[in-house]
Amino acid sequence: MIFGRKSKNQKFRLGESELKVVESYKYLGLVLDKNFTWKAHLVKVLDKARKRVQALSGLGLREGVSAKAMLRGWEVLVRPVLEYGAEIWGEKIWKEGERLQMEMGRKVLGVSKMTTTEVIQGELGWEKISSRRIVLRLRFWHKIVQMKKDRLVHKIYRQRRVEFIKGGKKDKKNWCYWTWKFLKELHLEHVWVSEKIELGSNFNKLVSNLMKNKEENEWRERMQRKSKLRLYRKLKDTLVVEDYVIELTMLRGGTNKLRIETGRWKKERENERVCKVCLCEQVEDEKHFLLACPMYVRERARMYARISEECELEHVESMDEEWQIQLLIGVGWREKNKRIRKIVLEYIRKAYNIRKKYVADM
Ligand SMILES: [Zn+2]
Repeated sequence: MIFGRKSKNQKFRLGESELKVVESYKYLGLVLDKNFTWKAHLVKVLDKARKRVQALSGLGLREGVSAKAMLRGWEVLVRPVLEYGAEIWGEKIWKEGERLQMEMGRKVLGVSKMTTTEVIQGELGWEKISSRRIVLRLRFWHKIVQMKKDRLVHKIYRQRRVEFIKGGKKDKKNWCYWTWKFLKELHLEHVWVSEKIELGSNFNKLVSNLMKNKEENEWRERMQRKSKLRLYRKLKDTLVVEDYVIELTMLRGGTNKLRIETGRWKKERENERVCKVCLCEQVEDEKHFLLACPMYVRERARMYARISEECELEHVESMDEEWQIQLLIGVGWREKNKRIRKIVLEYIRKAYNIRKKYVADM
């Protein structure tokens, strides 16, 4: 492979044989291309990460793996794939990568494509993957400037830094440009210049925190611009993961055992997946289980009574079905919803105990 400008049909030999000139080459797990566009690398990485997302979410649906485990899976199995070598290539915008993270978030939360990225980010407390790459790069920079002076990486950095300053800090192809720019954006340009980090301060932590604040501000600004999110931004203004996300799959995990799901794996037609508990020929889905099945009528009445008593929400039972579902197992009610979820979980537990007596496939 020849890096840089187009060369005119040069031939290279190793002993007798002529060497083939290639367009890209894999080295230390990075796919290099001659102009350092990283396109080939990102395609390969995205493909690998996507397969892992699919495997993870498959586990989530079939085996009822918890949201917590899925999030952990994302952190240890998928994200490292997306970030491999990001200290070097990470300054570019990478839409497909961001999109994959959002796709994963939707799967964990069990929400549709209509849910905006701001809401997904908000519920999970996630940063954009581009922000994580910046943190990785800056940590790497810190490591380089602290290295022994005779290390090759350090020497190359010194050389490039001199060139960068000589060129008026304009050369975007110089690695120093982006490091300098990112530090400047975090108001740390003086650290780039002096390369001195105050005694007792933890550079890595400092950078992570500053980045987190920056991201949180940008997230809030984006929400301000979307009128659809008027209600959401009243409920949520910090970028931290919500506790209920962890409980979420307990609710879903419960409903995974319903026939609408189990029938899918047995390849039954959807209209055949009727409730075997009440025998009223209705498909046993979340709605039937939570709102309609007559076998749990007492438990349901108790649930509604508790919701109206403890959460000051009256007449839930006469609301529109979609509203009820949203209220009982939906996303985004904060404090009130914590209490509601406890009550709903209690209902699910009791209803399952009844169900067990009638249905063998538990
Ligand atoms: Zn039923």
